[in-house]
Amino acid sequence: MNRVSNDVDNVDNVVTGTLVSIVTNIATIATTLIAMFVLDWKLSLIAIAVVPLMILPLGPVGRRMYVVRKKTREKRDQIESLTQETLSISGITLIKSFVREAYEQTRFYTVSTDLMKLEIRLAMVGRWFIAFISAMIIVGPALVWLGGGYFAIRAGLTIGTIVAFVALLGRLYTPASTLAGIQVQIVSALAVFERIFEYLDMKPEPSGALQLPRVEGKIDFERVEFAYTPERPVLRGIDFHIDPGQVAAFVGPSGAGKTTITQLVPRFYDPQSGRILIDGVDVREVDIDSLRSHIGIVTQETYLFHDTIGANLRYGRVDATQAEIEAAARAANIANFIDTLPEGYDTVVGERGHKLSGGERQRLAIARVLLKDPRILILDEATSSLDSENEALIQTAFEKAMRGRTSLVIAHRLSTILSADVIFVVDGGRIVERGTHRELLERGGTYARLYRTQFEKGSRPTLAPILPGYEHST
Ligand code: ATP
Repeated sequence: MNRVSNDVDNVDNVVTGTLVSIVTNIATIATTLIAMFVLDWKLSLIAIAVVPLMILPLGPVGRRMYVVRKKTREKRDQIESLTQETLSISGITLIKSFVREAYEQTRFYTVSTDLMKLEIRLAMVGRWFIAFISAMIIVGPALVWLGGGYFAIRAGLTIGTIVAFVALLGRLYTPASTLAGIQVQIVSALAVFERIFEYLDMKPEPSGALQLPRVEGKIDFERVEFAYTPERPVLRGIDFHIDPGQVAAFVGPSGAGKTTITQLVPRFYDPQSGRILIDGVDVREVDIDSLRSHIGIVTQETYLFHDTIGANLRYGRVDATQAEIEAAARAANIANFIDTLPEGYDTVVGERGHKLSGGERQRLAIARVLLKDPRILILDEATSSLDSENEALIQTAFEKAMRGRTSLVIAHRLSTILSADVIFVVDGGRIVERGTHRELLERGGTYARLYRTQFEKGSRPTLAPILPGYEHST
């Protein structure tokens, strides 16, 4: 964010002011030189002799400024991310709960002091260079007076010519020193340009060309291997098939790879080997926007924009009418709640929706995805337990959302698992068991054992606490 806002501002002057300044200064120097040579060529040579001395220190000064400027920009990044992390709602809550105000204050003080020192250094770089240029502006006319006096005595140069010549000198040295300053500015601005271009040069996500106007919703994974980092494989030989309209539940320990599996479908990542097919078409061949337009995602951590409820819902479909929005809210069991708010759909939800409860946020997210009306739905059920009323509201909202769509559910609730058409038990990046609830029970494997433990212990709403190593995930 710093690069797209502050860095762009930072080079603003170099881009806008410099070109005009370069042209006018070069024009002034050229016309002055002509006038000087017309007056007296020998005095002109003396006057020009000083100019290379002005240009000589440009290289080292520019390089030094480039280095310091780069460091100041990096320090600004650090401050930016620090303030963003600590001044966000979640950050403030964390700081307060751990009573870390003083620690954060010190951290901010340290970074901002570092930045102050760097900015001072940046301002001081080349001060001696400016002093040197100023000295040359004084030395130049002195030399001309000296030479002029000599030629007046020896070669009959008139006093009038010398005075006119010295008057012209200002029009030579001032633009020359301005050009020198601009050159240094440009070299140091390169540090900022490089940062901006690093982003502009980023390659867009690879996309296929195939448009998918309609999708049935058949999903196949074929020997999919995936790793975020080469040394740590996360998915090993994932193979499965889901028919259109089926609900597939993924269960397994925390870190097993369930979320990763679902993220490969909309191509947030691509597998290192194997294929993922939608309706028999490799997702890599499909245009990425077209692919994602058919997929809806509801994550555990619902993200809402700091905007009204209506605007957040409309994010699902920008041209949705008010009636459609309200219908989606009703289907997601959130309409009654919205009606109780004084400002209804115009209520602003706060940063990331912090003015709403977790359950309300999730139901809004379901309404938003209902408006999008995708053929494929990815649901990551929240592990946090909600009160039974909220639980039931979300459950029925989920069921409505899944109706008629191919759904991949990272299931934590037993009721979802029981209603799934097929259950995949994921462990260590592999699918260790698969089948319907009944089949898995009859097989008497891991799933059956887990289910019985659950059954014997009485009715628990979630399967999470009984799976070995199955901790609440984030
Ligand atoms: P949970 O139920 O806790 O959400 P999960 O089964 O969904 O777990 P994944 O989120 O798919 O597990 O993670 C699988 C593994 O990949 C984990 O070991 C995790 O540390 C690792 N992992 C996840 N995301 C990344 C990432 N962006 N970069 C590197 N490693 C990651």
